Amino acid sequence: MTAPMVRIRELRCRFEGDGGPVDALRGVDLDVARGSFAAIMGPSGSGKTTLLHCVAGLRAPTSGRVELNGTDLAGLDETALARIRRRRAGFVFQAFNLLPALTAAENIELPLRLDGRRADPGRTASLLTSVGLGDRGAHRPEQLSGGQQQRVAVARALVTDPEVVFADEPTGALDIRSAREVLTLLRRLSDRGQTTIMVTHDPVAASFADTVLFLADGLVVDRLARPSAAAVAHRMATLVESAERAANVAGVR
Ligand code: ADP
Ligand code: MG
Repeated sequence: MTAPMVRIRELRCRFEGDGGPVDALRGVDLDVARGSFAAIMGPSGSGKTTLLHCVAGLRAPTSGRVELNGTDLAGLDETALARIRRRRAGFVFQAFNLLPALTAAENIELPLRLDGRRADPGRTASLLTSVGLGDRGAHRPEQLSGGQQQRVAVARALVTDPEVVFADEPTGALDIRSAREVLTLLRRLSDRGQTTIMVTHDPVAASFADTVLFLADGLVVDRLARPSAAAVAHRMATLVESAERAANVAGVR
């Protein structure tokens, strides 16, 4: 048995809000196996984005352990966390976040340049080909469809050969066909050994993952292995129902 790529223990994250503290994560335990594709689902406000940010070194948790390929992120200062984000993590966002003035190829190379490294044109070309955009390297984002832009963003996430790709609602802004292209791409990368963690509210997107983890009220409450979209949708409906019931009870009190 090899050690998991991501290992989370007793992870807690509290926000100090105007209406008092909010416990976004209340003791999360979670392993993500090397080379696997994990989806995180849960009702709105259940802590999905907070969890992704803590694992990716974008936010310091209140307590608990987060290990990324054996490195404990707790106790690292901001400089060390920034280095991990640059070199060991890749990010895909809902809104693509490409720079409009740069070509697709230049966008892909940006994480290397920001890290003071030289880009290898051959590597950029092969990344473009691997996301199905071999002939689009000189195009600017506005000359590409949403699905093509998100595939450029996936190539950008891969350029540093990251240990984990983090995706927060990567298909949230796409039509069904483009979403399927991006999900097929993420699935294929994982089949080649890329560890991937994706937050999504879409049961179809989650059905592309090896494991689907369900969050509710800051805790992992269930997991399904290679589920169908229908099974995911069913589990989500139950969770949303009980979240609504809990909110109603709190409102009546
Ligand atoms: P999800 O992504 O599942 O919708 P989040 O992780 O964004 O959930 O939020 C979990 C909980 O933490 C919510 O109650 C949210 O209001 C709260 N929260 C998130 N970010 C902040 C913040 N910066 N300040 C205060 N509360 C926050
Ligand atoms: Mg969120």
